[in-house]
Amino acid sequence: MPKPAPRWKLVIHGGCGVIERAMLSAEQEADARAGLSAALDAGAAILSAGGTALDAVVAAAGILEDDPHFNAGRGSVFTYQGTIETDAAVMEGASRNAGAVTGATATKNPVSLARAVMEHSPHVLLSREGADQFSREQGLEQVGPEWFATPERRHQLDLMKADESHYFDAELKYGTVGAVACDNQGHVAAATSTGGLTGKRWGRIGDSPLIGAGTYADDRAAAISATGAGEYFIRAAATHEICARMRMLGEDALTAADRAIADVEALGGTGGVIVVTPDGEGAYAFNTPGMYRGMAGPEGKTVAIYGDE
Ligand code: ASP
Repeated sequence: MPKPAPRWKLVIHGGCGVIERAMLSAEQEADARAGLSAALDAGAAILSAGGTALDAVVAAAGILEDDPHFNAGRGSVFTYQGTIETDAAVMEGASRNAGAVTGATATKNPVSLARAVMEHSPHVLLSREGADQFSREQGLEQVGPEWFATPERRHQLDLMKADESHYFDAELKYGTVGAVACDNQGHVAAATSTGGLTGKRWGRIGDSPLIGAGTYADDRAAAISATGAGEYFIRAAATHEICARMRMLGEDALTAADRAIADVEALGGTGGVIVVTPDGEGAYAFNTPGMYRGMAGPEGKTVAIYGDE
C-alpha cells in the first residue's frame, strides 16, 4: 500500500505571557486575532499550492513582523538605551540548514535576513554591525529606527525602568513571533523573530536566534519555535530537547513539548512552544495564562489567545 501523501500544516505563535481577558480591550483582541489570521492565510496559501515549509514559515513570520502588535520587526521592544536590536532564526528540517541574526538594527524583516544567512553565507549566526552589513549587501529592504518604534513599546520601557525587578515580568506580554510548518513533501521548517526583552542591555541575546534553544527543525522529529523568558529556554536547550525526546524516546509531539516546558518551569522559566511533525501533526504547549497562537491545515484554521480556548 503506498503511504498516504503527507498533509500540510502550519502552526504560529505571537508570544505568550500573562494574557487574560480583562487585560485586552475588544479592539486589541480583535487586532491580535486578525494579525494571526492574516499570517496563517499567507502561509496556508503557499502550502496548499504545494509550496515549501520554508517559504510558508518565512511568509507567515514576515506578516507578524510587519504587524506592530507583536514584538518582532515593527513593534519590537526597546533596549535599555532606547534602540532596537532584532533577533531571528530559520531552520529547514530536511538538511538541518539554519541561519540566524542577532542585534540587527535596520532590516525590515529580520526573518528574511536569517534566511539569507542560511542560503547565501557559509555561516549560521551573524551579529550586530556585521549582520546589518550583510543585509545591505544582500539587497534586503532597509528601514530607519522610526519604522520599528511604537508608543506602546516606549511606554513599556518606561515601566520597566521604573521597576527594574520586573526584568522578566510576563505582564510585559512577550510578543515574539514564530511559525512552524510541514509541507506536502513531508519536510518541516521553523522560523522565529523577536525584539527580545524590554530594556535588554549589554548586548543581551535571547533564545530565539539560537539554534536548538528557541528554534529547531529536523525532519526526523519536528519543527519547533519557542517564546518566553529566553534565558531558561537556552539553558534547557528546549527546542532541540523536544526533537531529541521524540527521536530517542518515541514521544509524540504534545508529550515532548509538555515535558520540555516542564523542564523550563523547573528552572524557573515561563513560556511556550509550537510544534509540527513531518506527518502534519501540530501541537502547542505553554505554562503562561495565554499564548497568541494559530493553526491551519487543509481542514481549516483556528486562532486562540487565552489558555482556556
Ligand atoms: N524568547 C524571547 C527572548 O528571550 C522573548 C519572547 O519570547 O518574547 O528574547
